[in-house]
Amino acid sequence: MDKTILVVGGAGYIGSHMVKMLLAKGCQVVVLDNLSNGYRNAVVGGDFVFCDLADKANLAHIFQAYQFDGVMHFASFIQVGESVQNPTIYYQNNVANTLNLLDTMVKYEVKNFIFSSTAAIFGEPQAVPLDETHPKNPINPYGLSKLMVEQILRDYEAAYDLRSICLRYFNAAGADPEGQLGERHVPETHLIPLVLQAASQRREHITIFGQDYDTPDGTCIRDYIHINDLCQAHWLALQQLWDGSRSTAFNLGNGEGFSVREVIDVAKKVTGKDIPIIEGQRRDGDPARLVADASLAKNTLNWKPQFADLETIITHAWTWEQQHGIKW
Ligand code: UDP
Repeated sequence: MDKTILVVGGAGYIGSHMVKMLLAKGCQVVVLDNLSNGYRNAVVGGDFVFCDLADKANLAHIFQAYQFDGVMHFASFIQVGESVQNPTIYYQNNVANTLNLLDTMVKYEVKNFIFSSTAAIFGEPQAVPLDETHPKNPINPYGLSKLMVEQILRDYEAAYDLRSICLRYFNAAGADPEGQLGERHVPETHLIPLVLQAASQRREHITIFGQDYDTPDGTCIRDYIHINDLCQAHWLALQQLWDGSRSTAFNLGNGEGFSVREVIDVAKKVTGKDIPIIEGQRRDGDPARLVADASLAKNTLNWKPQFADLETIITHAWTWEQQHGIKW
């Protein structure tokens, strides 16, 4: 494989797993990251360039130094609540800085772009599971910032022939099956790592956000997708672009929903630990159910998730939590 891939945000949770996979495929990998939420020691190989996407001059240097066959863009702010409180940093980072990246790609005639999008572009679901045709009505600045980039990408294909695939993640979870990489957000806001921190007594309890949703046990239902399965979809999507595909978008999930209580129950089984629970208030902006219909990705990309089982996802996350949870 003689391809050179730029991984923007390659020191973060999903990006670092992607870098590992691309290296295993034999690609030359260049990681661009400002380490605002990533870790230098999460980059297991390739060239590392410290760069902020706001820095257009530095971006230009990087595109002069390498001839990229594709760009994967993982760098963004991802917290819904924060985006409501502080929208300016979401539009600045997720939209304006992404434009800097896209304009640099156009200038240096790099054509193939894989974009980390999100189920949050859909807003409150009209029905589940959600396929790609579901109306897009984001209900917070985070989701809107991602949808704006999706729309920009359509215009950039028409105007500049920059071809892209947007991958709309449902709930990314789990960790590298080999135990080398995992999730380390600070502060951590995601359910599975928080539950496992409670299991390992690094946290006193897990608070369940709302018990009065219209679901069988009253807690929110989500579709958890293993990080390596997500990365595999990125790899297949990039190959589809190399094969000449036009721009498109795919929803990525397992098509099966688990409630917050079910996640905690599986975590209890996997860890063998007690997990203290507090019944808290609803969190703003949480739809009751988000479940993906990922048939399009399965049929078009021939994507086959390898770790679809929630117990496996939590087992890998637990291995990471036990080995690395206390050391950061
Ligand atoms: N959740 C919870 N307690 C927490 C964190 C999350 O009950 O401390 C719930 C949250 O309301 C949602 C689900 O767990 O229904 C998954 O939340 P997460 O933040 O992991 O991902 P999101 O769905 O926001 O992308």
